[in-house]
Amino acid sequence: MSTLTVNGISKSFYGVKAVQGVSFEIGPGQIMALIGPNGAGKSTCFNMLNGQLRPDTGSVTFGGHDITGSAPSEIWRHGVGRTFQIAQTFGSMTVRENVQMVLHSVNRRLWGLWSPLMAGYAAEADELLEAVGMQEQADRACCVLAYGDVKRLELAMALANRPRLLLMDEPTAGMAPKERNELMSLTARLVTERGLSVLFTEHSVDVVFEHANTVVVMSRGQLIARGTPEEIREDPLVQEVYLGS
Ligand code: ADP
Ligand code: MG
Repeated sequence: MSTLTVNGISKSFYGVKAVQGVSFEIGPGQIMALIGPNGAGKSTCFNMLNGQLRPDTGSVTFGGHDITGSAPSEIWRHGVGRTFQIAQTFGSMTVRENVQMVLHSVNRRLWGLWSPLMAGYAAEADELLEAVGMQEQADRACCVLAYGDVKRLELAMALANRPRLLLMDEPTAGMAPKERNELMSLTARLVTERGLSVLFTEHSVDVVFEHANTVVVMSRGQLIARGTPEEIREDPLVQEVYLGS
């Protein structure tokens, strides 16, 4: 059974068709990369899945729930986690407090700033920090972290919501190749350990072919190919519009 089913979604901006009739499915354990040239419609697609944008047509179903046009908070509550291209963390708080705050809001269903109740989530926060290899940094202020560590913290914060699907739009933007591979290896390990699925966009074809197990390709708002990394690498249409060989 699929986790996420995207059925014919479209979005236009002022008459410009950014996404046209895109359909695909993601099942448990899938690490799906969405690739394509700049302006292909990848972010618009993402934003229709996370609730930032309402599709003009089509539907999105997650775990049996119709989430088409639902608010981001509602989609999050159904178990869709996300990371942001520009990491969203609270710089003046410690690494542990950032995770505690998300755990607090997941359990209380409301966002609150520091409250004594958050202390109850310290052990669970530490378990998540260990899962992303950041237990040593739990007491550091977020604002002094290296960029790669901020991205790992963001993953721990996304996991605090116990998601079944993680959406990551350009998770490795601005990273050196080594850091990119580390972040995506970590993501792949979490997928296996926790039975999640992941949908991510990525510019580096090397990262995609190394870490994704399914690739979907967009060009000019449409989905033009879907397959394993090997199949996509050999696809003549993909080579023409994207891989440039
Ligand atoms: P990608 O993420 O693949 O680079 P985008 O989804 O950002 O592509 O953009 C797809 C197309 O939609 C582009 O032509 C872009 O200019 C247009 N577009 C995206 N967002 C908006 C917006 N908020 N307003 C107007 N046009 C937009
Ligand atoms: Mg984009």
